[in-house]
Amino acid sequence: MNRMSTNFKLSRRSFLKGTAAVAAAAGAGWAGLKAPGWLQPATAAPPGVQEKVVRTICSPNCWQTCNHLVTVRDGRVVKTAPAPMPDREYDRICLRGLSHIQRIYHPDRLKYPMRRTGARGEGKWERISWDQAFNMIADKFKELRSQYGPQAVAVVHQSGNYGVLNGGYAGAYRFAGILESVLASGSVDQAIPTGFAAALGMGIFDAYSNECADWVNARTIILWGSACAESQINEWHFIQEAVEKGAHLVVIDPIYTTTAQKARTWVNLRPGSDTAFALGMLNIIISNKLYDADYALNNTCAPFLVREDTRLFVREKEKPLVWDTVTSRAVPFDTPGIKPALEGDFAVSGVKCRTVFARLKENVRDYTPEKVAELTGVKAELVTRVATLLATNRPGGIKFGFGADRYHHADLLGQALITLLGLTGNIGKSGNILGMFFAGFDPMVYNAGWLFPAGTFPKVLPLIQLQDTIIKQNPYPIKALYITCSNLLVQTTERNKWLKEVWPKVDFVVAVDQFFNNTLNYADLILPAAHYYETEEVVLAGDVPYIMYRQKAVDPVGEAKPDWEIYKGIASRLGFSQYFGTIEEESAKWLDVPLLRQQGITYQRLRQEQAIRFLPKPYIPWQDGKFKTPTGRLEFYLEKKVKEGEELPVFKWPLEAGPDNPLAAKYPLTLITRHEKFRIHSQYENQPWLRELNPEPVADLNPGEAQKRGIADGAMVEVFNDRGHVVLKCRYNEAIPPGVVHIQQGWWYYPAGHHQELTHANFKANTLNYSFFDVRVDVKKA
Ligand code: SF4
Repeated sequence: MNRMSTNFKLSRRSFLKGTAAVAAAAGAGWAGLKAPGWLQPATAAPPGVQEKVVRTICSPNCWQTCNHLVTVRDGRVVKTAPAPMPDREYDRICLRGLSHIQRIYHPDRLKYPMRRTGARGEGKWERISWDQAFNMIADKFKELRSQYGPQAVAVVHQSGNYGVLNGGYAGAYRFAGILESVLASGSVDQAIPTGFAAALGMGIFDAYSNECADWVNARTIILWGSACAESQINEWHFIQEAVEKGAHLVVIDPIYTTTAQKARTWVNLRPGSDTAFALGMLNIIISNKLYDADYALNNTCAPFLVREDTRLFVREKEKPLVWDTVTSRAVPFDTPGIKPALEGDFAVSGVKCRTVFARLKENVRDYTPEKVAELTGVKAELVTRVATLLATNRPGGIKFGFGADRYHHADLLGQALITLLGLTGNIGKSGNILGMFFAGFDPMVYNAGWLFPAGTFPKVLPLIQLQDTIIKQNPYPIKALYITCSNLLVQTTERNKWLKEVWPKVDFVVAVDQFFNNTLNYADLILPAAHYYETEEVVLAGDVPYIMYRQKAVDPVGEAKPDWEIYKGIASRLGFSQYFGTIEEESAKWLDVPLLRQQGITYQRLRQEQAIRFLPKPYIPWQDGKFKTPTGRLEFYLEKKVKEGEELPVFKWPLEAGPDNPLAAKYPLTLITRHEKFRIHSQYENQPWLRELNPEPVADLNPGEAQKRGIADGAMVEVFNDRGHVVLKCRYNEAIPPGVVHIQQGWWYYPAGHHQELTHANFKANTLNYSFFDVRVDVKKA
């Protein structure tokens, strides 16, 4: 099989014709959507040809979970269009969704199970039947389990599909739970949310922000490390609408992205210096008394007293105390009729203490605009401008993206941002953006009764620890990998370590996917997965407030199977078939969680209505100022981080990216690998229409940096560090600041090496997050 057999014969014209039709129909509203023109032949179905329109869902990890209307003629998809949602502002599709026809019928689509016949990576395969494949997996798993125990197998998943049973979440959890195997997942995009979740008392992917449709009411919007106009296209129009109504858009990003180009204020800070800028904003807000004192006193932990000796709250019967200015004594924070002090030094039973607010004030005092300018490289006046906007041009909010998340210590940025939002009294108001809107992933995915019906559980291992666990064979003796919804070798760090140190320790690698990508190239057995349109199931809510049903539009191509059918086939040979019922049976049980049960949302109802809103309309949480923390307050003071000196947000340079980092002399550039609109992580990489618009990987360099190295625009270059290298074309790009090289995320192949050879797997214990951008490199002519 040729790994690059895509033939880019389709013309740009064909794509543009289709997208023009999209624009026209979008402007025409739903009536327009019924009109022909959605990437379909202009002709109507010839007589005798069976045609139907099926409502289904696209669900990669862009979170947008767009509902599509798919026209099927004689069993083949011929067009895609957005489906009308119960709230029409959530009708949506994007260029990737429009290209699904090419994905389903791509010449490189995997159609059959295949077994490796040559060496790993040699590309020699033979077709086998599903029976042979299932037996091979079951035999190998039995052998390894009996020799090393159930943790000899690791189920590895990432986010390739938000389907419940077929995706990388609930279905994979159940499979791993039944096997009692290792379940390796996560470690991506979870540092900043950690800061938010802790202060709010929620899970990191809970529904803590106002829904996107409410963002149009914002007057100040700060996009922090978010290239929303490209990476979350369907959220962008809400922001654009707010801007059209007069909102001030601030974009904080080292790169002059398409999103930054739309901003009224662009903060072009140094990579990894974000928290310094946030602390500068806190300093301005506190020192100029721009905070909402009532909100801080009554709804946050700001007045709680903190002991000087232990830096823990002063408590009485577990309740934090505040200083009552009426009686001049410390009392539980919820004592009726008190007037707590926001600032001050006190003594309680001989123990010196001060308020959280006073400690915060002291912590940020040194972050003057001038000092922040020195650290971040931006003009000092920007700190004051952005802080004043957030505090006074209300309602406002901060939407973080995962650009800023990809540095060591990004959790501290999360702590700083939630503190900013809390002190400015923006939370609970229409128009607020509280970090990100995710409709409530955690309460549904973690339906423990359904996930673990046998009473057996997987050993959950953060993905970032998988490499070392396998190399050391400790704490689990992992000998087999079952990889699903993941192009592991493109979407995780230290690719050379995977291939040279991890792979030799693993006896058996099964990879499930739709295409023969990098990871499958190094597997022993590859299984063809069904496309979204080829499956029936419930789909998780992403950034829409619905639980949704995906209808099957067409039969799988070749012998491809939905993931649930694959789990079933393996489980039946291992004696666990009772835990893998039909999609209908299992979905009905999975949906039986209090949140949905109380609203009468069942599988039958979902099949009929297809998208059911399960959050109130409009969804604006925290209007009563009560949070899910033990005190009911916004607890941005984290006692559990006292040991690290991080109970309040502080600024620490990341591991590699800082300007004074010892590595800077040898490797003067920071490598940033952003999301772009042509892919979702590494998905859609081989779509011909998208490749017409974005044909090949390039290293974007500021012309000054390139010329310093004698590199011409368009020349082949090598980006390198001690861990590895990648060879690709250089593109002069004024949008990239000096000191940075940018490569778009998700490319499968390069002329030599790979950008994931350059990245590292160092992590912070409390986040266990990949720091994909915290990477130093240099560039030279290839
Ligand atoms: S890729 Fe994402 S934004 Fe595009 S159609 Fe699919 S779900 Fe929607």
